[in-house]
Formats: sequence, structure tokens, C-alpha cells
Amino acid sequence: MNELRIFTPATIANISCGFDVLGLALDTVGDEMTIRKVKKKGIRITKITGQNIPTETHKNVAGVAALALLSEIECDFGFEIEINKKIKPGSGIGSSAASSAGVVWAINELLHKPFNTIDLVRFAMEGERLATGVAHADNVAPALFGGFTLVRSYEPLDIISIHTPNELYATIIHPQIEVKTADARNILKTTVSLKDAIKQWGNVGGLISGLYTEDYDLIGRSLEDHIVEPIRSILIPAFNLVKQQSLLAGALGCGISGSGPSIFALSKGKKTALKVAKSMKLVYDEIAIDYDIHVSKVNKQGIKIL
Ligand code: ADP
Repeated sequence: MNELRIFTPATIANISCGFDVLGLALDTVGDEMTIRKVKKKGIRITKITGQNIPTETHKNVAGVAALALLSEIECDFGFEIEINKKIKPGSGIGSSAASSAGVVWAINELLHKPFNTIDLVRFAMEGERLATGVAHADNVAPALFGGFTLVRSYEPLDIISIHTPNELYATIIHPQIEVKTADARNILKTTVSLKDAIKQWGNVGGLISGLYTEDYDLIGRSLEDHIVEPIRSILIPAFNLVKQQSLLAGALGCGISGSGPSIFALSKGKKTALKVAKSMKLVYDEIAIDYDIHVSKVNKQGIKIL
């Protein structure tokens, strides 16, 4: 086997109360990549379709993540990468993470799996460092593990794969506006009141417990963010109305995806997730904001061979 064609998923990070720690993978939204083992040493990006992203190995997160992997293993051959990018960069659903995670996963398969999933997260994080300046794991971890993941700690890197109930669907609306990741960061306060912290860790515990016991009501009650969302949501047009209408349409919860501008809602069952999509669309149609919208099951498997 010298070549792999894969689906690498979009991901939702910063799931409400789980800011910077909880993420999930999507099932039908993602990029396609082809990774080929070739005689010539090194990493080359030979084809990019779909979006305008850099083709130079050192400027593309896929190239940087692949080089991080190769720096830890002897290889007298190289790899070519083709990316069919369907996830718009800067949308808040892990566009760069899909490329970083996909390439290291595929190379590991072609090398007959010398690395474990935590190693792959480490390599993919180097791609994230290029995209955002910070080597965060909250998008690459769910892309590589599938389902929900918790980044419990960075030093040491400790990632926990969380049980994912079967009927969970995500609806994501991406208003076509730009929110700069730096702005989304700078707007946050650096301290948290004890009162808010208590509410937040209560909800994190509730959410994890709800996922394991498949208690959808508990999941819904726990999808609350008292710390980041009240501040960040002012950067997203009509956030409160989209959230209110999603909940009225039956969503379990609704929040900001990544650092925005995408908004996600989680629902029990596809029928409700589609109803939520309709209610989100109505809000943006009314105020004439362009958008992309996606409905997807939560993906338990992560990256898949096509
Ligand atoms: P998202 O907000 O969806 O997570 P990111 O902000 O993580 O998207 O990544 C977008 C940035 O990373 C852009 O500046 C883009 O040009 C750069 N980039 C470099 N390589 C890639 C790649 N393979 N896929 C996506 N973005 C890439």
C-alpha cells in the first residue's frame, strides 16, 4: 500500500462549558486528502483544490505536521500530499486541524503504525501552531480519536476519548463574516469569578456524565457557558436570537464553535437537527446575512479511508 485517500473531519472545539478542553468530530463535513509514498525524500504538497491555501510545505499546516512526524522516524523515502479542501479556513470548524490530523494519520498508516494516537496529536499540534500561533489540541484530538474528546492536560499531554451517544447530531451555521482569532482571544478576560467557575465546572461534570449515561436531558442542561460565550458572542451577528430559536426548535444546547463565527447546536436525532437548521436559517435570512449550514451526526470514528 503506497497511497491512501481519506476523509478527515471538521471538528467543533470549545463546546460550551468545555472552553479549550472539549471537542467533537463531525461525520459528513470534512476534507478529502490523498497521501502518497514516493521515492524522493521529504514532503511535497502537489495539489490543492477547493480553497486558497498555501502550497509551500512550510506554510501549509499539513506540510508542517508531516515534517514533525518525519523528524521522529528514519525514512529513506518521502510523501506527496493532495488536499481537496471543503472546510473554509477561518470558519471555526477546524479547517487547519483537518489537514494536520489527516496527513499524520495517513502517513502513520502507510508506515504500518509506528506511532500511537497521542503521538499523532502531538505532530498535528505543530500544524495548529503554524495556523494560530498556539499548539492547541482541541480540534486535532477529536479529528484523530473521533467522537468527543477532553484535553485534560498539556503537560503531560493527556487526552481522554469520551463515550459518544448514538443519536447526537450537530447543526452548524457559518455566517459569512470574518472574526479574527486574535480578536476573539483578546476580548476575553484573564480572570474568572469563583461564582462563575463553580457553575462552569458543575456543567463540565454534568456534560461528561450525560454523555456516558446517554442522558440527553442532562447533556442539554449542561451545555451552558458562563465564562466565554457572554463576552465572545457579541462578535457574532444575532447570536442570541440564533440560540433562542435553536432551543425553541428542540436543540439540546447551542454555542460558539471554536472561536467563531460558526454557531453550533446539538440535538437528539436528525429530524430535530434539521428543524434547528431551518430555524437558524430563518434568523439570518431575515437580517440578510449570507451563511453556510451543515447538519451532521457526531462522528465516532474520526478519520476514514475512502
Ligand atoms: P478554523 O478557524 O476553521 O479552525 P484556522 O483558523 O484553524 O481555521 O486555520 C486557518 C489558517 O491556517 C489560515 O490562515 C490558512 O491560510 C492557514 N492554513 C495553512 N494550511 C492550511 C490547511 N492545510 N488548511 C487550512 N488552513 C490552512
